[in-house]
Amino acid sequence: MSILVYIEQFEGKAAPVSWEVLGKARGLVDQMGGKLAAVVIGNGVEAVAKDAVSYGADVVHLVEDASLAAFRLDPYAAVVEDLVKTHSPKVLLFPATARGRDLSAVVACDLNAGLAADCSDLSLVDGGLAAVRPVFSGNLLTTVRFNGPLAVASVRARSFPTPEANPARAGEIVKSGPVAPATGVREEIKSFEATSTGEVSLTDAKIIVSGGRGVAKDPELGFKMIKELADTLGGAMGASRAAVDAGYIPYKHQVGQTGKVVRPDLYIAAGISGAIQHLAGMGNAKIIVAINKDAEAPIFSVANYGVVGDLYDVVPALSAEFKKRLG
Ligand SMILES: Cc1cc2nc3c(=O)[nH]c(=O)nc-3n(C[C@H](O)[C@H](O)[C@H](O)COP(=O)(O)OP(=O)(O)OC[C@H]3O[C@@H](n4cnc5c(N)ncnc54)[C@H](O)[C@@H]3O)c2cc1C
Repeated sequence: MSILVYIEQFEGKAAPVSWEVLGKARGLVDQMGGKLAAVVIGNGVEAVAKDAVSYGADVVHLVEDASLAAFRLDPYAAVVEDLVKTHSPKVLLFPATARGRDLSAVVACDLNAGLAADCSDLSLVDGGLAAVRPVFSGNLLTTVRFNGPLAVASVRARSFPTPEANPARAGEIVKSGPVAPATGVREEIKSFEATSTGEVSLTDAKIIVSGGRGVAKDPELGFKMIKELADTLGGAMGASRAAVDAGYIPYKHQVGQTGKVVRPDLYIAAGISGAIQHLAGMGNAKIIVAINKDAEAPIFSVANYGVVGDLYDVVPALSAEFKKRLG
């Protein structure tokens, strides 16, 4: 095995970032040779293991038990560490979700391996992993290399595209049971309570409408109009850092190098100039539409469609037209 990927699932549903990481790992294994393995831990999660094969794994280690039904750090880490000790992968990858971050840190520590957390790109240099990750609160990007025999990395959502699933793909599913952690199990899950903000998640949204400093004339009205367009299209609302720094909108909406990385089908940027740090977060959107009153704004050089105009006229006009057409 040359790369092992941890597939995160909750109640039998894989976190989409798992497939993004697996897809990238497939490309790396094709270059370095060997086998791409995945590990799925839970109870009644064989469907996820089958999906892992269809998304590119050669071998999937399916580790099931009632005691593994819910994620807990100690027993999950014990399973991953046991697989690493048995199969000696060169690279171990995790999605950089809340759980994936925890798990990767504990596993890397226990195995005395280097960890690159929250990576936005992965490549091979001289046959070893090179991982790009932010430092100094995201103000700089560094490329990390590893000295030891095992490289561990967690990968930010939307850093890579979701690969095409091929249900006809052949792969091996190896079943096993839990591994007793040396520490014992120190957590007990009582219950889960879902929280819902009623908003579409920015990182998962297929459509995003973002506003920038261009709303400065009346930020409250500007973002109200931007939200209305996002809601009309069933999308999420984003923002540039300038808009966040100015206090027009909370940080959770920020897209870019120091905000969220998104990969929607449609990204509408209103009153955003197109600074490189903003493009770092949305440059991989399938279709980019820019609305800006400055025809020379750099955002137009990456936009598929551009409207030169005042967002206070264009955004409500788009909402009205979409409402008419979408009923
Ligand atoms: C280390 C570092 C990290 C950073 N991280 C991020 C990040 O994560 N995300 C991010 O976005 N930025 C980030 N930045 C900031 C980035 O460099 C830009 O300053 C920022 O993206 C600019 O935001 P803006 O486009 O909204 O504002 P501006 O650059 O001021 O652009 C405003 C645009 O609105 C247009 N406009 C004005 N009024 C109207 C109107 N009525 N109608 C239509 N258009 C109008 C203007 O023509 C202009 O193009 C970072 C910077 C640094 C140094």
